[in-house]
Amino acid sequence: MSTNPLLEIRFRIPFDRIEAAQVEPATDELLADAARRLHATTASEQPLQALDTMTERLDYGLGIVRHLESVATTPALRAAYNAVQPKASAFYSSIPLNEALWKAIQRYAATEEGRSLTGTAKRFLTKTVDSFKRHGADLDPAGKARLKEIDVALSEVTTKFSENVLDATNAWELVVTEEAKLPGLPPAAMAMARASAESKNVAGWRFTLQGPSYLAVMTYLDDARVREQMWRAYNTRAASGAHDNRPLVVRILELRNEKARLLGFRDFSDLVLEDRMAHSGERAQNFLDDLRKKTEPRFREENQELETFAGQKLEPWDIAYWSEKQRAALYDFDEEALRPYFPLERVVAGMFEIFGRILGIRVAEEKDMPVWDPSVRTYSVYDAGSGAHLGSFYADWYPRENKRGGAWMDSLITGNPDQGHPHLGLICGNLTPPVDGKPALLTHREAETIFHEFGHLLHHLLSRVEVRSLAGTSVAWDFVELPSQIMENWCWEREALDLLARHWETGEPIPEDLFQKMKRAKTFRAANAQMRQLGFGFVDLAMHRQWAPSSEKASEDVIAFSRRVLQQFSASTLPDDYAMIAGFTHLFASPVAYGAGYYSYKWAEVLDADAFTRFRREGVFSENVGRDYRDKILARGDSEDPADLYRSFMGRDPDPRALLERAGLSR
Ligand SMILES: [Zn+2]
Repeated sequence: MSTNPLLEIRFRIPFDRIEAAQVEPATDELLADAARRLHATTASEQPLQALDTMTERLDYGLGIVRHLESVATTPALRAAYNAVQPKASAFYSSIPLNEALWKAIQRYAATEEGRSLTGTAKRFLTKTVDSFKRHGADLDPAGKARLKEIDVALSEVTTKFSENVLDATNAWELVVTEEAKLPGLPPAAMAMARASAESKNVAGWRFTLQGPSYLAVMTYLDDARVREQMWRAYNTRAASGAHDNRPLVVRILELRNEKARLLGFRDFSDLVLEDRMAHSGERAQNFLDDLRKKTEPRFREENQELETFAGQKLEPWDIAYWSEKQRAALYDFDEEALRPYFPLERVVAGMFEIFGRILGIRVAEEKDMPVWDPSVRTYSVYDAGSGAHLGSFYADWYPRENKRGGAWMDSLITGNPDQGHPHLGLICGNLTPPVDGKPALLTHREAETIFHEFGHLLHHLLSRVEVRSLAGTSVAWDFVELPSQIMENWCWEREALDLLARHWETGEPIPEDLFQKMKRAKTFRAANAQMRQLGFGFVDLAMHRQWAPSSEKASEDVIAFSRRVLQQFSASTLPDDYAMIAGFTHLFASPVAYGAGYYSYKWAEVLDADAFTRFRREGVFSENVGRDYRDKILARGDSEDPADLYRSFMGRDPDPRALLERAGLSR
């Protein structure tokens, strides 16, 4: 058995020895082990510690499999992963429903020791108790049975919702056979439409409601009638006929509301946000109200300016098109001009130098850690003062056919560096690869992506939280993007850019005029971008807080209700059949999804912009602020309420002014 590398936690993971055939036997053994530990925990007099480590081996083994499925998949590995996935998730979701475990935790909480806990241990106990309660641990048998029915129904209805969106999206196409009818579209969009037609064996150019095709038409196509046709199709998706989501939205809202009330909450937003930084739907709503007030004046101006520029009244399908024309007229700036200044090696080396200085760490490349692909690089992070090994990580930057899209960070081992156990993690991306003998030359946005994921990674590697479940990035959803997004700020600072952005041939820094253009273009129509996000946040909270199915408002059509809310955030008048929420998978494609949580995007932006003002004020390379940031935020994981952590770093609550200033919206 010891020959199966998934069974034994090892810092030096033998990625060169892991095979698909090991996945099922390892998972079965790890699940049996976790079940044994769970049983022992229920009899334990100190169940907290046992609870924290109960699934450590299982997390490790499954984490490696999940990771390999993302970066080095094979048909055999995918099959093995799909075979074990349901068993594993059934086990994990059974934990907070285990009555014997709940009794053991309650017994412990009532003891002298349980009642006198302090600090992180106390928080762990409180969070555990709250989580069990939110899973229905305190309900009577009838309540428990009803909760189970609601959860089953929610999972069925939300699955159907997302199938409907997919089917409705795929059911629509527009095939154009004459090139003359497509003026304005750039060559890349034409080529994409041509390839799409060929894949369906039709002549001409084929357009769909998939993001890239839809956005290219809305942004560039000169013919407003085609844009209108496509815009209407997109915004009435899954709102009629065979894939009608309208009754499902109502059902999902009803079920979520019933669940929240059954568990003793006012509404679904309070249930979901109890454990987040905002804590309640009302706080989240106040936050959005405030930002909206501060964004609206500039929003109106921008829309006036756009209509003046276009010389006509604009319909919803005109906005993206005329914005692009206005952008091109106002700014003589091409993102591509920056590429030669962002060779990947230099960006990464510059980033290590910047945060080495600020945070008091040293990053060194490792040469002998086994990897899953020869292009993967490995590094270790040391404390610059004590020399202690804090953690190691893998960096996998380029696309491959056996790797999924996007960029992400993941943890492999949560250690305890203070006791000689370093953390282990990874960062992945799908960045522009090297071509034609040149180094990989990135866009500015890609450089920001590297900084973003490195920020998540540092949150993990610099953690000093002793309770595993509260360590590193295991923080509230509306707090987790602070450590990542704050990093992107350095990509806009001249002194920092000079360290990471150098022309790959001449070594020259970015010319000042190019830098100024890049900064100016950043704030173009920023109020519209912000209002769009705020609108989604508003409609999300409005549906989950106000549109109570039990009230007389239930007779009101939820589609019309949401259209009225969204109209206030739209640059033009929305038509009567506008039904964007019928395709809003973010909110409705799974039992919780982003439901009542959409505000988090803006919330996190406020935190990162505001927290960065300390660096702005005291120096973007300030070791003093860096030390504080490392000790009070990065090292602390979820060991305290994030609002308290934030206050301990900033000396006050978050202030949205920095975000408005960064977006060019302060006045
Ligand atoms: Zn992120």
